Amino acid sequence: MYNAKAYAAASEKSPLASTTIARRDPTPNDVQIEILFCGICHSDLHQVRNEWSGVMPTVYPCVPGHEIVGRVTKIGTGVTKFKVGDIGAVGCMVDSDGTCANCAEGEEQFCPNFILTYNFPDKHTGGVTYGGYSDSIVVDQRFVLKVPGNLDLAGAAPLLCAGITTYSPLHHWGVGEGKKVGIVGLGGLGHMGVKFAHALGAHVVLFTTSPNKKDDALRLGADEVVISKDANEMAKHAGSFHFILDAVSADHDINAFLNLLRRDGNMTLVGAPEKPMAVSSFNLLMGRRSLSGSIIGGTVETQEMLDFCGEHNITSDVEVIPIQKVNEAYERLLKSDVKYRFVIDMASLKKEA
Ligand SMILES: [Zn+2]
Ligand SMILES: [Zn+2]
Repeated sequence: MYNAKAYAAASEKSPLASTTIARRDPTPNDVQIEILFCGICHSDLHQVRNEWSGVMPTVYPCVPGHEIVGRVTKIGTGVTKFKVGDIGAVGCMVDSDGTCANCAEGEEQFCPNFILTYNFPDKHTGGVTYGGYSDSIVVDQRFVLKVPGNLDLAGAAPLLCAGITTYSPLHHWGVGEGKKVGIVGLGGLGHMGVKFAHALGAHVVLFTTSPNKKDDALRLGADEVVISKDANEMAKHAGSFHFILDAVSADHDINAFLNLLRRDGNMTLVGAPEKPMAVSSFNLLMGRRSLSGSIIGGTVETQEMLDFCGEHNITSDVEVIPIQKVNEAYERLLKSDVKYRFVIDMASLKKEA
């Protein structure tokens, strides 16, 4: 074991603060990474404040962060995928059983025994896993991805959660040329959805409640912007969409969007509003429409997404901050005051004692 610098919350009421945590020394299949950048995901805030106590109670100290990009500093004797000096990336998972049907197909996000990057039992240390708000991390090579050399590393970090969360359903539901695709909400997830759907060749319509987001949406790749509160504007698109990606986490009426799907169209949810949603059956019966969910992606698809980003030069629009501003960033995140993702420059952690 060795000591790593990190930012952790000591309790659900505590701000994140500088501390030291124990990490394992690399075992034969492990890659040790010096973390250069780590994105801030809304999940980090939920976990730090124990807002998911019903499903995933937080164990303190909690070190969040699952949008990790860094440089390989050490490898185990069995590592073939990376050499020292390479750039590696880690997303929401760091382990899985490797034996179930989901793992066999590279869909580890559905493995009943997956291990998330933070706040999950760590079989090596006996405690819980610690995430990317740290100067280093040690991860099995199976869960370390390669980042194309042309991508800006700060902008690439959010691809590991916000990126794969939106890419996976677009890919699964066959979004491409000749398809009319809607993206609901222009935040951390939605702005990636717009970029991907555009790069895949679809006709992209961004739905937002804020008229002031129109210019940005067009710049990011939307062909049209529809103000979803405007019933007349919505009605013009009735029955026309092949696919709609709903990236909104706040409570909202999904029936207004289901009604815009054409025959056999699908709407997939990637946000998780707190309250159960009402669905009018008729909106599904008429036109044999379907409603689905999706969560991150497996290692195979995550690598495919990163390679796609390399080919199309896609990264997230980010605001880079030093780690000393992380608590302030959380407050701004709650007000959606970021375009469109905060990323921590981990060099700033070196200043801490
Ligand atoms: Zn996330
Ligand atoms: Zn499995």
